[in-house]
Amino acid sequence: MGLRASYDHIDRCFYDQAGKAYEIIYWDQHSRFCPVCGTPTEQKGPIMKKCPECGNEMFPAVSPAILVLIRKGEEILLVHARNFRGTFHGLVAGFLETGETLEQCVEREVREETGLTIRNITYFGNQPWPYPSNLMIGFIADYVSGEIKLQDEELSSGSFFSKDNLPEIPRKLSLARKMIDWWLEN
Ligand SMILES: [Zn+2]
Repeated sequence: MGLRASYDHIDRCFYDQAGKAYEIIYWDQHSRFCPVCGTPTEQKGPIMKKCPECGNEMFPAVSPAILVLIRKGEEILLVHARNFRGTFHGLVAGFLETGETLEQCVEREVREETGLTIRNITYFGNQPWPYPSNLMIGFIADYVSGEIKLQDEELSSGSFFSKDNLPEIPRKLSLARKMIDWWLEN
């Protein structure tokens, strides 16, 4: 069974361990040669390799990605991304770019993917996301203005939903689901 498929079937602590192992194996496979000079690398510790030629040291890199729950009155924005497996609707998400703060990333992703402007960006929580080596960081924000204009390559549908007409939402254990559940309770 693949890691993603195991999500609903094993205990959280085992899932977290499997995720960490997956990230380290991925790193091991992608750090066989020094990216600076091309020499085969040497393992120096569980999560450290060193180039015997130029001394370059390598550790597993983690790429931050954001998730944002946008509130508009009694509704929230839910979208279906083309790369989602299944038919559920989730939150706007995207990768942090070089030189950006997390808040700038949240604003940019929302603008690029939906055409909306937002404010009151506040931190919610985070979750390791080993697909292959990300950290998912969740934020809550409020809608300010704009009509939804979906970025076609990334999203196939999206709109504001109230508590009474929610579509299928992400599965338990995911940060997105935790954020939606938090909104439902509050
Ligand atoms: Zn080297």
